[in-house]
Amino acid sequence: MPRMTALAFVDLETTGANANTDRITEIGIVEVDADGSVREWQQLVNPQTRISPFIENLTGISNAMVAAAPPFAEVAEAALQRLRGRLFIAHNARFDYGFLKNEFKRLGIDFRAPVLCTVKLSRALYPEHQRHNLDSLIERHGLQAAARHRALADAQLIHQFWQKIHVDRGSEAVESALRSLNARPALPPHLDPGIVDDLPDGAGVYLFYGEASEHGDLPLYVGKAKNLRSRILAHFAGDHRAAREMALAQQTRRIDWIETAGEVGALLREATLVKQLQPTQNRLLRRNDDVCTWQLRDAGDGWQRPELTAAGELDFSTGGACYGLFASPREARQALRKLVEAHHLCDSLSGLDPRPAGKPCFGHQTRRCKGACVGKESSERHSMRLLAALVTLKLTSWPFAGPALIREGDEAHLIDGWRYLGSVRDEAALQALLDAPRPPFDRDIYRILGKQVGRMQPLPGARPGA
Ligand SMILES: [Zn+2]
Repeated sequence: MPRMTALAFVDLETTGANANTDRITEIGIVEVDADGSVREWQQLVNPQTRISPFIENLTGISNAMVAAAPPFAEVAEAALQRLRGRLFIAHNARFDYGFLKNEFKRLGIDFRAPVLCTVKLSRALYPEHQRHNLDSLIERHGLQAAARHRALADAQLIHQFWQKIHVDRGSEAVESALRSLNARPALPPHLDPGIVDDLPDGAGVYLFYGEASEHGDLPLYVGKAKNLRSRILAHFAGDHRAAREMALAQQTRRIDWIETAGEVGALLREATLVKQLQPTQNRLLRRNDDVCTWQLRDAGDGWQRPELTAAGELDFSTGGACYGLFASPREARQALRKLVEAHHLCDSLSGLDPRPAGKPCFGHQTRRCKGACVGKESSERHSMRLLAALVTLKLTSWPFAGPALIREGDEAHLIDGWRYLGSVRDEAALQALLDAPRPPFDRDIYRILGKQVGRMQPLPGARPGA
């Protein structure tokens, strides 16, 4: 990032903490030019929604005060003039930056600025201290507060902190801390550099898009992350030894992401999106179409015979036990052959190499098969040994009578018979998911969920789905 000498110290008051649903009630900006001249601006904003008594008390900004104030649309231009071309400096900068960005977005304005967070700066300069909130900084550095929780007063405090650290630590130490904070990978030139400021620090899935082609706008790659920001930036860090990763970074033209409440939500969505969108660069999670499993069928007279079932059709609420999940029928037969050989089972009666009744199978000719094919071993005994051999591959049966939930943060993931129905944040959405058709059984989802059984709670009183 180029060194910015024009600065804007920014603080906002809002109706709450959520940048998507809450609104701005006051903007305070301290502009500092390259020549050192300072201008201050404070503006009340009508949030066009009620301010709660709690927030009224906290900020001292009441519903009565903003009633006559202009809405954000009328002050947007004035704010923009004071922010453009400046380094955006705020305490917990993602909060203020996020709110402003969203307010501008509602007006169709794409606001982007290089951002500096003074919490991070304080942490970098004073790592020996635990607390870096504004009150701690006031106390530690003897800052003079005109008022707390009013926008301009807090912006002034951040400006004071900025001046203080230059005296306290010297410009060189501040510069060096800034460089380490702003150390960001050089994004390829065809990517919007502003994206670095937008990336959230939470969990989620991300999608890399290439040049739009005749196939439409499909992603090249879908990935998941505990921290979207650091994971996405790592793709562009330039220290990739793998040529494939390098090529992906070079092909990417646009990045999109979905924030999730946690890691399980990210894993489930990643697996689902990869199946839906078939990104060309995802190797590990692939199509489910050929995935199959062995089930035992009663062949009469005590014989149990393995039969292949396509995994997409598996129904864990009614079906019998399943053994293994294989990428293809070929892989399934290879796995069965290994078991048949290791357990001295019959090639013919396991279905691998069917022969007319009474004819010895190939394994019996080489004395590997114990002779079920020629009547030397009873059907019951062979069936029992076959079951014992298969048991290591047995899939976990669905442990609930109906659907179950995994709660994670403010999300609930809805699961039924190892099928991931979706993630919801409220009751209405939950019912809609229950009523929707079930997706096919998916091997990757099954594997993800297998590790989460302990967190699943049966859904009380849920109607079984269609
Ligand atoms: Zn045999």
